[in-house]
Amino acid sequence: MQLERILQSQGFGSRKQCRALIRHGLVAIGAEVCADPFIELEPQGLEFSVDGEPWRYREHAYVMLHKPQGYECSRAPRHHPSVFSLLPEPLVGRAVQSVGRLDEDTTGLLLLTDDGQFIHALTSPKRKVPKIYAVTTKHPVDAAQLAALRRGVQLHDEPRPIAAAACERIDDHLIHLTLIEGKYHQVKRMLAAAGNRVEALRRIAIGGLVLPDDMAAGEWRWLEPADLDRLW
Ligand code: URA
Repeated sequence: MQLERILQSQGFGSRKQCRALIRHGLVAIGAEVCADPFIELEPQGLEFSVDGEPWRYREHAYVMLHKPQGYECSRAPRHHPSVFSLLPEPLVGRAVQSVGRLDEDTTGLLLLTDDGQFIHALTSPKRKVPKIYAVTTKHPVDAAQLAALRRGVQLHDEPRPIAAAACERIDDHLIHLTLIEGKYHQVKRMLAAAGNRVEALRRIAIGGLVLPDDMAAGEWRWLEPADLDRLW
């Protein structure tokens, strides 16, 4: 594939913009600046840098973001900055989308990708991929509330009660709640229906992929094949 097309596929702009980057000597393959936009290269596994930033060719982009509070998961946010403002330009340029959404005040593990099939598979209730939330509650959690969450609570506009796939009490004001659906405000509505209230909400895992302890809010990372395998 021509170098300018490789750069374009990785989100560095239009072909013309990528050609200009290359011609300006901003693109290096390994340690060598490459000023020929039309050089044919094998893209798989290609390591290159643009303006000193290292990149690797990826057919699809899969990343995790530690979503901070006060960010919206929309590309056209209404009241707060967008999570996309936390990603580097080329990722935004290759049109990644979030895998489901977290509320503006929810923190934690958010996945983003440009692979539509992956988004569909992870968000489809049929695939039953568990999403685990650490829920800090306003009132102490009692046995009746835990039982209601496990048995199922009736949410407005839902035909039948919805149960947590798992619900573990960590302390008086903290539970770990596992859901396989991703309904609007689902955790907040379930806690309210059980007679409590969410004070803080953080997604800590999707499938077996856990938000790393050393990842600060606002930080993002590539998902490597081993991370993706943990999801299913
Ligand atoms: N449930 C909620 O209520 N909010 C979220 O952000 C995610 C799940």
